[in-house]
Amino acid sequence: MKIWLDGGLQDTESARVSVFDHGLTVGDGVFETVKAVDGRPFALTRHLDRLTRSARGLGLPDPDHDEVRRACAAVLDANPAPLGRLRITYTGGHGPLGSDRGEHGPTLVVALGETTRRPDSTAVITVPWTRNERGALSGLKTTSYAENVVALARAREQGASEALFGNTVGQLCEGTGSNVFVVLDGEIHTPPLASGCLAGITRALAAEWTGAKETDLPLDVLERVDEIFLTSTLRDVQAVHRVDGRELPGAPGPVTAKAMRIFDERAGHDLDP
Ligand code: PLP
Repeated sequence: MKIWLDGGLQDTESARVSVFDHGLTVGDGVFETVKAVDGRPFALTRHLDRLTRSARGLGLPDPDHDEVRRACAAVLDANPAPLGRLRITYTGGHGPLGSDRGEHGPTLVVALGETTRRPDSTAVITVPWTRNERGALSGLKTTSYAENVVALARAREQGASEALFGNTVGQLCEGTGSNVFVVLDGEIHTPPLASGCLAGITRALAAEWTGAKETDLPLDVLERVDEIFLTSTLRDVQAVHRVDGRELPGAPGPVTAKAMRIFDERAGHDLDP
């Protein structure tokens, strides 16, 4: 297995990153997970734009998009797979912390992980912890993901594959690694970015392609709605068949099934929408 590090391809077994790298020590890094189908990345331009927004949010220098594109292409060429996930990690490196990072450059790693096609539906739980929609990291895709790891572990203990957060004012926000949509009176709604959720790339595409509305939703809307679905790079559009133990019979329901169809068709036609 080959990864990209320090400007070129390296063997995974011998690649080395400093033990003082701030991505490792304090979570001073940002990342993207990009789906790769038949060796070609999906929606890479949108991922690169978000990587830059996240990097700026942490005060990191702008990542060099040309280098990241070259790295992705080289890693995909070196590790052929029908379906994979590129992990782009970009950290503050091991220079001084803060805005003046001295002569030490950031660290860029691009690696390819395996993935499988998601099941059509899944179970979710809600967790009592909140997303801070006014926090410094709100909306950034940083490597400080430990809260998501804890919430995901709780979901798995309860036989679910995702945990959903509310925010500090009790509104529905997002999952540990996905955005959430609900169907109300036949219309599709998803929380706005002001809820503190990540600007998911799948969320944006699914909303545009299905006409979903951005709506402030109370967390307890999940107790009432008949259809819920998740979106993410690795799930695409995925129906929810159980939420906190409440069954949603027939999932994917008609509106969700249509959203899944539309997404698969459009995404299949355009690799960089
Ligand atoms: N929300 C969070 C916290 C995430 O980590 C992710 C993806 O990893 C998403 C939402 C979904 O975003 P995308 O559709 O870009 O994968």
